[in-house]
Amino acid sequence: KNGVKVLTECPVTGIEVTDGHVTGVNTPQGLITAKYVINAAGLHADDISRMANDDSFTIAPRKGEYILFDK
Ligand SMILES: Cc1cc2nc3c(=O)[nH]c(=O)nc-3n(C[C@H](O)[C@H](O)[C@H](O)COP(=O)(O)OP(=O)(O)OC[C@H]3O[C@@H](n4cnc5c(N)ncnc54)[C@H](O)[C@@H]3O)c2cc1C
Repeated sequence: KNGVKVLTECPVTGIEVTDGHVTGVNTPQGLITAKYVINAAGLHADDISRMANDDSFTIAPRKGEYILFDK
């Protein structure tokens, strides 16, 4: 109703940057231009960030366990 279009099986493969501003994302289904792009790629957020020439952080996932101290 609000004009949202959900694209599945459509990974971001590149980020368009023009004059230092993100202007869209490249996908197998073509370029999607946008005024704003939100990077919500979870453990792959650093990969996406690097596509926009930002390598200011890396994510190093590791396996962990929860420990309950309170009986
Ligand atoms: C085994 C396990 C158990 C957990 N249990 C709990 C729990 O009990 N309670 C709790 O609070 N948290 C739990 N967590 C942590 C929780 O899952 C994460 O903190 C949360 O899902 C992070 O949300 P997110 O939206 O940032 O990223 P995600 O949920 O990881 O979403 C990122 C999305 O980006 C997509 N994506 C990645 N790269 C691309 C790309 N190039 N193009 C397009 N899409 C892309 C992915 O497919 C994914 O759908 C658990 C995590 C794991 C692995």
